[in-house]
Amino acid sequence: MPLVDMGDMLNHAYRNNYAVGGFDLVSLDFLESILDAAEHCRSPVILSLSELQFGQYDFELAMAATEKAARRARVPVAIQLDHGASFDSAVRAINLGCNGVMVDTSYEAFSANVERTQQLVETAHRCGITVEGVLGFVSGGDGDYAQRHPGHPVYTSVAEARTYAERTGVDCLAVSIGTVHGRMRGRPKLDFERLKRINSVVKLPLVIHGGTGLTEAQYHRMISCGVAKINCYTALADAAGRRIRENARADTRCGYAGIVKDIRERIRVEVEQCMRLWGSAGRAAEVIMQCQAWQPVQHIVMYNVEHGFESQIDSMMAHGTEMLAGIPGVRRVVSGRAISELSRFRFCWILEFVHKKVIESYRDHPDHAAFTNRFFRPIAGDRVAIDFAELDTAPVARSTVALQQMQG
Ligand SMILES: [Zn+2]
Repeated sequence: MPLVDMGDMLNHAYRNNYAVGGFDLVSLDFLESILDAAEHCRSPVILSLSELQFGQYDFELAMAATEKAARRARVPVAIQLDHGASFDSAVRAINLGCNGVMVDTSYEAFSANVERTQQLVETAHRCGITVEGVLGFVSGGDGDYAQRHPGHPVYTSVAEARTYAERTGVDCLAVSIGTVHGRMRGRPKLDFERLKRINSVVKLPLVIHGGTGLTEAQYHRMISCGVAKINCYTALADAAGRRIRENARADTRCGYAGIVKDIRERIRVEVEQCMRLWGSAGRAAEVIMQCQAWQPVQHIVMYNVEHGFESQIDSMMAHGTEMLAGIPGVRRVVSGRAISELSRFRFCWILEFVHKKVIESYRDHPDHAAFTNRFFRPIAGDRVAIDFAELDTAPVARSTVALQQMQG
């Protein structure tokens, strides 16, 4: 169970004056180390997959591992698409299991950024998904992927932040106040006055991108000004990179296993340090108790076909699989026939929705209506349908975590 609603998680951090780390993962080494760190210091965590890094791994495969790892974690976890390139990227991420999305349209003119974000929020909220908006531009410094953020920084305007938050309905807002993606060049100078004013007008959890390399005092001050999520990748990548160089120097003939030896430990130490510094360490039990569990819903339809329509079944099933799988919030579409001739119903559809809100948005979606009216209703006869959530094991998970915390 420990996948939880990302909006609930961020609001808990915002209300209780700490920040959750959104850690970009690029491999299983990162995934496992980040979760090890979170479990070790009993912290909530956001596993972040950035579209800017999709050249390095297969997103679909990475999501399968990420979700599996999150579901068996003993701390609350959310999964976010970071720096999504488009609305379609966000829908794909939602259907693959992300429960938070960020699509970066901050390079657009203000009105276009508002319009595109509004459209995303409308669709995402109908699927129960949390949306991170972006205003201003956090440019790149040094390090992996820093060059993916070329140009000069643009600080977030307080007046625009207010209008943007009101018009778009985003759940949290990424702002630019002087951090950089990658490594800082020189001493970081942050505009806290601006951050404070943005917080006082938007009253939403704020997000900092480029969370590497700041001082303890700077992190604390950011959090006191409303920052509830800090994105971090470079510190982890650098820790792994340093270890790889040490390994290569120590044994110039080593192979893959020798080169990557102990990098998990280095990443874990780095993540844990962030969690302690940002105040999320030790908060897992509270978050699990106070946040909604993130649970998929199964939608099952069993039916028979009217006499004489058997020959159209395969075509109807093929159309349905294609048309329904693209609807936002639909994770899986399976159609099939009963194995036994004696079954009360001969055919079925099984769909998995990311969240119970999708029951309604799916029913109202034009692709669903088109499929039903054109292909399904004309041949389907007698049928039954049910939507159900998997048995909630949350109370057991909650009491286990609470007990573990009490026992220290
Ligand atoms: Zn970023």
